[in-house]
Amino acid sequence: KQTWTAELVANALTVRFGGLSALSNVSLRVKGGEIHALIGPNGAGKSTFVNTISGFYQPDEGRCELDGVELTGRRSLEIARLGLARTFQNTELFGELSVLENVMVGYDQRLSYGLVHALLRTPRMQREEFECRRAAIGLLGFVGLSQYANEAARFLPFGLQRRLEIARALAGKPRLLLLDEPAAGLTTQEIDDLEAIVRKIAGLGISVLLIEHHVDLIMALADTVTVLDYGQVIASDAPAAIQNDPRVIEAYFGT
Ligand code: ADP
Ligand code: MG
Repeated sequence: KQTWTAELVANALTVRFGGLSALSNVSLRVKGGEIHALIGPNGAGKSTFVNTISGFYQPDEGRCELDGVELTGRRSLEIARLGLARTFQNTELFGELSVLENVMVGYDQRLSYGLVHALLRTPRMQREEFECRRAAIGLLGFVGLSQYANEAARFLPFGLQRRLEIARALAGKPRLLLLDEPAAGLTTQEIDDLEAIVRKIAGLGISVLLIEHHVDLIMALADTVTVLDYGQVIASDAPAAIQNDPRVIEAYFGT
């Protein structure tokens, strides 16, 4: 069990695409150890927020930091190394690789050797690969995919592919995990399983930013809910308060 938790602070982020402001002056704080849900209608800017925090987009204005370390201006790989992992709205697995190898890919960035060592296969590399494999097997157990370890990822049912993506993100040993619509396309049973997995992740001390449409899941899991609409934060509060907020009902629950 990890003994620390990570706090993410986004301060007045603005992201423009041409004339469109996908995010306008968005401030958000994910407190250490909490499950923070980010919700809002399609096009509200949720994925843009995740892409900006994780270094795939650069903000036009504003900044963000993880435990006081500036993230703005850094590349996505560097941000991952600082302890921030993410999944994508559209699953991005290596279909031809095995389920286990897909998790091992998530460790790669942590390994100390580069391409040269990979070609030479030094003893150190073999040792690290062994450790990496062992840890990946552990993570497959954590998300309940042990029995599929050696199957090609593309043969996994969709719901299990999403779970594999979470295992791969965890392989980077994040302190903060960003999940972009992890319940999309899942069955009711799979959503229940996902809920249990996210709880376990939070139980490890990993802060979670959960982007979701599935209201029951948000209400069950979230400590705090922030609502985006047209690229702006319209509310940020405990789930029960959010559910009764007239602006939120109009923008989101009403639709
Ligand atoms: P959400 O995830 O809440 O559905 P997005 O962040 O995907 O919303 O999109 C917010 C707005 O920004 C939308 O109008 C979308 O079309 C636009 N947008 C997102 N990414 C890009 C991009 N790479 N280039 C241009 N426009 C984009
Ligand atoms: Mg999105």
